[in-house]
Amino acid sequence: MATTKKTPAKPKSSNKSATKKSTKTSTKTNTKTKPLNIMHDASLNRGSAFTTEQRQAAGIEGLLPVGVDSIELQLARVHTQLDMLDSDLQRYLFLMDLQSRNQTLFYAVLMGDPARFMPLVYTPTVGEACQKFDHIFRASRGVYLPISAKGRLKEILSNWPQKDIRFIVATDGERILGLGDLGVGGMGIPVGKLALYTAVAGVPPALTLPITLDVGTNNEDLINDPLYLGLKQPRVRGKAYDAFIAEFVDAVQSLYPKCCLQWEDFANFNAVSILKTYKDKICTYNDDIQGTAGVALAGIYGSLRISGQKLTDQRFLFMGAGSAATGIAELISEAMAMEGLTIEEARGRNWLFDVNGLVESTRKDLADFQKPFAHKHAPMKSFIDAINDIKPNGIIGVSTVPKLFNQGVIEAMSRVNARPIIFPYSNPTSRSECTAQEAYQWSDGNAIFASGSPFDPVTYKGKTFVPGQGNNVYIFPAMGMAVLATEATRVTQQMFIIAAKAVAEQVTEAELDSGLIYPPQSQILTASLHTAAKIADYIFEQGLARIKKPKDVAAHIGQMAYKPVYDN
Ligand code: NAD
Repeated sequence: MATTKKTPAKPKSSNKSATKKSTKTSTKTNTKTKPLNIMHDASLNRGSAFTTEQRQAAGIEGLLPVGVDSIELQLARVHTQLDMLDSDLQRYLFLMDLQSRNQTLFYAVLMGDPARFMPLVYTPTVGEACQKFDHIFRASRGVYLPISAKGRLKEILSNWPQKDIRFIVATDGERILGLGDLGVGGMGIPVGKLALYTAVAGVPPALTLPITLDVGTNNEDLINDPLYLGLKQPRVRGKAYDAFIAEFVDAVQSLYPKCCLQWEDFANFNAVSILKTYKDKICTYNDDIQGTAGVALAGIYGSLRISGQKLTDQRFLFMGAGSAATGIAELISEAMAMEGLTIEEARGRNWLFDVNGLVESTRKDLADFQKPFAHKHAPMKSFIDAINDIKPNGIIGVSTVPKLFNQGVIEAMSRVNARPIIFPYSNPTSRSECTAQEAYQWSDGNAIFASGSPFDPVTYKGKTFVPGQGNNVYIFPAMGMAVLATEATRVTQQMFIIAAKAVAEQVTEAELDSGLIYPPQSQILTASLHTAAKIADYIFEQGLARIKKPKDVAAHIGQMAYKPVYDN
């Protein structure tokens, strides 16, 4: 062993004859190391699917058992192995290992059954993986940028081997899903989310990069955990934080000028301020704010296909007045404005209700971001009274509090609407403002229902209803693909409105009849490519693309989309 290890050191000699000799040695070593490269590079490795000829050509004959598998056989083996595991966390770890071993097979698994695998590589399983990150840490994927390296972010970022990066998902780990501050454990989110960009809309994985910005953590449990892998210091705030973000943005712009930067799971105050600072300067967006609003708007467009009404005639009342509520209300208002209302008229059709009652203009406790929706109205503490007074067509629950859409609420909505829109969007299921069963039952089967977390089909009075899930995954992968395919300079609010319409128009009449207002998740790849093409058309129309418009935008996107097959 010792002799073998010493061999590669020879080329370093300054002696001429030694150099000559060592060149030979090094060539020899290269042919010997090549097999390791091809089998250890996840983007090249095929494992048991390497043909006999490929094994001979690459010098890896004998490094695998003699059998040659088709990808279908490999998939069958993966499924068998997954079935042997006891928990979703184990399946998550198995899939992450597969991703770092054989990328093609990993995506063939995901894309073969996205409805089954999205919850395994992303929510809800990824939440547990982030919480246990430091304890289950194996291999690393992505780049970690600690604030202690301020001044050297570009240098560190350039250590990432791929030089053409078009899509980054970055988090600072402060508000991971509903789980709070998980420090560097938040890395599971950019990794999982980017896997969905690829699996759901074909964004080529080689062009993507997950990043965690480590500015410390205020989670005492992590600080006190000897296994914690991030900076053990309180989170940096204020000017130092902003300067760190600015240096990061500059580094990305300089190394990857065509890159879109998607911010994910930042604490609300940072999320809002980062988006405000950069949205008109670079190609960037925040999925928690804009993707959420997009998917809710898609649900509304889907609902209007059932009720046959116009968007500009609708009124909405939100249970909750936080970031989700104001983000959705603003995008609905902008969509109404695109259809002819003034933005003030449109905002006037969107009402908020929070823990202190109806958000109205006499209230003194409102934050700036809530004020555009503080309309003239007498103070009101009862949500049912607000329904009776405002007569909303839809109620949207983003309060984080379960059961607020009780029987009285749903019955009040049913009295003022033939087909009330009921969207309990709070996650997870245990926080949903009502269940699908409750909504259908209390509205006598008339509710147009979608929720943040999934619910099983409900049978009421002999009819089976299929509840839709307002999952951001209908929007963000398509947005990523559209931005990539057009090399867009900006991501605008209008692009999310276009995306929402494109999602809703794909629901079939039969699906609408069963109550479904989003396309089925089993067809999400087709749906996302359609949505991406519609967004891309708009990007070209608005002059936001950096490439010439291809003759057939949808075909251009289809051609760019990653396919999980072994190239010959
Ligand atoms: P937030 O903390 O910013 O806002 C919560 C709001 O609810 C606050 O305005 C608060 O006053 C209000 N509230 C709390 N208790 C209340 C009560 N008893 N009655 C009335 N209002 C009450 O949270 P957020 O980021 O806006 O997220 C809210 C919820 O929306 C979360 O559960 C989140 O999971 C969900 N969400 C779902 C999706 C999705 O499904 N696509 C996307 C984003 C957020």
